[in-house]
Amino acid sequence: MPQKPLVYIIKDIKLDEFLLETLAIRSGYERTHEQENSEAIFPTSSFVYESAQQAADRFSGEVPGNVYSRFTNPTVRTFEKRLAAMEGGEACVATASGMAAILATFMGLLSHGDHIVSSSSIFGTTKVLFTKYLAKFGIEVSFVPQTDHQAWCSAIQSNTKALFLETPSNPLTEIADIGYLAELSKSHNALLIVDNCFCTPILQQPLKLGADIVIHSATKFIDGQGRCLGGAVIGSEKLVGEEVRGVIRTAGPSMSPFNAWVFIKGLETLHVRMEAHCLRAHKLALWLSEHPAVEKVFYPGLESHPQYALAQQQQTAGGALVSFRIKGGREQAWSVIDATQMLSITANLGDVKTSITHPATTTHCRVAAEERLATGITDNLVRVSVGLENLADIQADLQRGLDQLI
Ligand SMILES: *Cc1c(COP(=O)(O)O)cnc(C)c1O
Repeated sequence: MPQKPLVYIIKDIKLDEFLLETLAIRSGYERTHEQENSEAIFPTSSFVYESAQQAADRFSGEVPGNVYSRFTNPTVRTFEKRLAAMEGGEACVATASGMAAILATFMGLLSHGDHIVSSSSIFGTTKVLFTKYLAKFGIEVSFVPQTDHQAWCSAIQSNTKALFLETPSNPLTEIADIGYLAELSKSHNALLIVDNCFCTPILQQPLKLGADIVIHSATKFIDGQGRCLGGAVIGSEKLVGEEVRGVIRTAGPSMSPFNAWVFIKGLETLHVRMEAHCLRAHKLALWLSEHPAVEKVFYPGLESHPQYALAQQQQTAGGALVSFRIKGGREQAWSVIDATQMLSITANLGDVKTSITHPATTTHCRVAAEERLATGITDNLVRVSVGLENLADIQADLQRGLDQLI
């Protein structure tokens, strides 16, 4: 057996010369001496050294290189570099889940006594993280309506260190103006943090619109086939490469090499999948708007959407999530869900399998009823994450329940 360490063949590719779809397939990988065409996976917890001196240099950080997979791993690094290239960020840190990415961001960048202004239309678990756990460590959060600029301004305090949002929001697809909020946060020395899970860099690149940090749940569209949990934080070398990475390597919610490999493969096809998701979602939204049992459709690609113009400017397509209110209440909404035979009744999203859910009694069931109503999560609201099945089959599955109501 050769005793020499692996020799990497590094092609000096100038990333700036490539476009997004190419970066998704070609960036971030260093081919090994085996000359494989598809990315290798490195399921190893630790790494070995040629000498005691080399070990000492690596541990002290004087010489860069792998030490332990809680810190760095070649497969995970490929995922990080590729996603950073796609989002246009200097640094990316991969995490065990989307929630670990959000936790690590706030642990790394905020301290006791700091304040966050957050959109009230964020992922339910993120809200719980803010109000139940960050609060225990003296970090306060004020919630504001996603699209109310005056409310964002008024909520800022002298100790506000971060503005946080998702856009489009879940499930009502409200669009936040990233450019405006980036200016607002800069003028108050705060960071704008955007959870870009629903759009992915294919539809929206918040850093290019002025955001400081982008967060992902890779569990959703980046995997795209509902297999692995993972997350990522993208931003500057200082904030993400040092501060957030410091939390991950110390606290331990690192991404596994196997999951990273699945996500690398997911990134390669992300652009074709997102295009196909959006095409189906848009057509489904148009069809639903015409159905007599449907009261209202929420989809940023429809001209009837209140922030249609902003969505056109900020996103390259409307996304895969379509929500709609059915004429009636909870009973009617449930009857449409229960009449489906193919759609997956699950709160998960971003999968090739179309899913259907009733937000008021699932994703938002822990939100107080008055607050749910105030934020538009009514009992007759249904959310569909449009997958990649044939649209005619998705439509037929929904039509069965809807037709019963007219
Ligand atoms: C699912 C989700 C998360 C959490 O990600 P996990 O990978 O499940 O931890 C965060 N933000 C948004 C918008 C999500 O949809």
